[in-house]
Amino acid sequence: MSDHSERDVLRELFPGTARELFGDHEPPRVTLGLYPVADGRMALISGGQLAELEPLEQRGSKAAHCDLCHVTRSRSDVGIFRARSGERLYMYLTLCLNTEHCQRRAGTHGLEALAARVMGGGVGSPE
Ligand SMILES: [Zn+2]
Repeated sequence: MSDHSERDVLRELFPGTARELFGDHEPPRVTLGLYPVADGRMALISGGQLAELEPLEQRGSKAAHCDLCHVTRSRSDVGIFRARSGERLYMYLTLCLNTEHCQRRAGTHGLEALAARVMGGGVGSPE
């Protein structure tokens, strides 16, 4: 029952990015995806919802497991992000820095699962 599309949300929060992504006219419909926005941040969009992922300082050199495509990569290939999930909850995510390839590996299903985790506030999981 949202009359607010992800495009509107992006436009509100990141007008510059929205313009780049969608132009000023009616865009193709985007319902799910991860988009680089300003300052190394990422915007996770699912339906009309948007979660902002904020990059964190990285420490250590151990291999890291990407929470989206589930490939284990070297630490230099991934970023640690903090997603605000609801008003009081933060969720930490490890994501490939090359998000295009990562999203391709993960596919729609992987993105949906990630969005469910983030938007769902970490409570419950898709069966
Ligand atoms: Zn990945």
